[in-house]
Amino acid sequence: MRSGWLNNRRRTVSDQEKEIDFAKSPSRRIFLGAGSAALATAAFVGLAANAQQREDTRKAERDRSSSDPGQENRPLLRENPNSNTPPPTDHGDIGPIWYSFDLARKRMEGGWTHQVTQRELPSSKDITGVNMRLTRGSFRELHWHTADEWAFMLYGNARVTVLNPDGTMFVDDVSKGDLWHFPAGFPHSIQGLGPDDGCEFLLVFDEGMFSEDNTFLISAWLAHTPPEMLAKNSNLNRPAVAKLPTSELYIFPAALPRSLAEDKAKVGTRSEGSPIQYTFKMEAMAPTKKTAGGEVRIVDSRNFPVSKNIASALVTVKPGGMRELHWHPNASEWQFYIAGKGCMTVFMPPENARTMDFNANDVGFIPPVAGHYIENTGDTDLVFLEMFKAPQYMDFSMNNWIRRLPPEMVTSHLTSMRRRSERFPPKTRR
Ligand code: MN
Ligand code: MN
Repeated sequence: MRSGWLNNRRRTVSDQEKEIDFAKSPSRRIFLGAGSAALATAAFVGLAANAQQREDTRKAERDRSSSDPGQENRPLLRENPNSNTPPPTDHGDIGPIWYSFDLARKRMEGGWTHQVTQRELPSSKDITGVNMRLTRGSFRELHWHTADEWAFMLYGNARVTVLNPDGTMFVDDVSKGDLWHFPAGFPHSIQGLGPDDGCEFLLVFDEGMFSEDNTFLISAWLAHTPPEMLAKNSNLNRPAVAKLPTSELYIFPAALPRSLAEDKAKVGTRSEGSPIQYTFKMEAMAPTKKTAGGEVRIVDSRNFPVSKNIASALVTVKPGGMRELHWHPNASEWQFYIAGKGCMTVFMPPENARTMDFNANDVGFIPPVAGHYIENTGDTDLVFLEMFKAPQYMDFSMNNWIRRLPPEMVTSHLTSMRRRSERFPPKTRR
């Protein structure tokens, strides 16, 4: 009964196919092409050990070990075969590394919003994600908040505004693949535009306990200020004050704005325009790195100075390719999967490893400095965002580390992978 979804698992792919997968991976070629014959031999020792483990798994699949005669949630199992029946190399516990926006309640009104915070994914103490949709003309109300806001456009077009402390105003339009960054406390707005039906975007905040429901809204402030104080503060007469909103607007429909040029002209001439650039064309930029297996675009404070606390990478992994074994020295990693299917294993000391599957709209998490890789397990491009609460993107590649070491050192390490108990036999009891 279960063989249908078991067949889709990567460990049931034949050895031959698996080797093709390895060959396609640029990182594997780097690893094997590291120079000395000794190094190549050492690498093959590791591969043989893997093959042995795969053999064990296949044996377990042929006998009745993995049978499950009771109840199961089959749609979930089909999407997450490795999460449910992990590879034999998985061990121990590293805490939650997966959640999905498709489990998060949507708040609907002129669009919708839902979030994955530390409440849903308790390991993520540094970052919260919000997925938001604004229909054509709809506003995310004028507001500000305690966290920095980084955003990536997933669909359509939007107009954003943000006010600088010096009184200058930034106004710009963003399209699919563009991003923006608003510093904590800076008041801003977002409005869905045509010609498509508004927009959808991902917001990333640099606080795990951030909540999109707890931002400083202009309407809520007005509703909680005595009317006579509003009249005094804004030179409005009482009938005008009586027309102000009495509760929060949050997301609400409105007419489409004028053209960008007209809006820019309305907010002022050059002397009143923002000297700081708050938007960036991420998808349109040339790849930071490109290999046969895929490409990556990195945006952080080095090429987008306003993004002082949030670093990002937009990664595309081709079918058969993998994001090689690596880690990040300066932050935990929060991921958003945009397209395709992937499988990630996260490694933590002493001997913990957890493998899980990721689909579009899922969120992944990697504890600070933990080792990990991501394999494209589908037949289309795997596209995801890597997000860090850090001024700069930084990573270490295992392949690169091994490639830089004296070959003898590598050989010593990769050929003495006997168990500790074999190297140091336990003392006989007296
Ligand atoms: Mn905001
Ligand atoms: Mn990473």
